Amino acid sequence: MNEKLITIKTFYYDSETMLYEPRFKDADIYYFLKDQKTVSADPVVSNAIGGIKLQVKEQDLEAAKAILKEIDDNRVESTFGKEVKFKGKNYIGTLKVCPKCGEEETYEEQLSFWKGFFSPQKHYCKVCETEW
Ligand SMILES: [Zn+2]
Repeated sequence: MNEKLITIKTFYYDSETMLYEPRFKDADIYYFLKDQKTVSADPVVSNAIGGIKLQVKEQDLEAAKAILKEIDDNRVESTFGKEVKFKGKNYIGTLKVCPKCGEEETYEEQLSFWKGFFSPQKHYCKVCETEW
């Protein structure tokens, strides 16, 4: 059997593949990480050889693309650094965990320099609507 493999994604760091590999294993999709050994042995060459190529069989292409999309969509959902407005105030997404519900979709109030100097920054949890 000599099936053609199609590259559907490239990685510049070996560690990036960790997010994807388990999903392909779960879905029972055959995949091959071309040049993974080369890159993990010497990350400096990654750029020169075009990174690690995630390859799948042509017959699995659609399923593989669906998995990639799902992973990428989840990543975009991260609210870190996202600017939002609550009750007329400007907030920006943080990586803090809500003290009440433990969720990570939290924001901190964006204050002007002087206001921030005199009053503590308020935090807001989007999930349970707690302010602290
Ligand atoms: Zn909360």
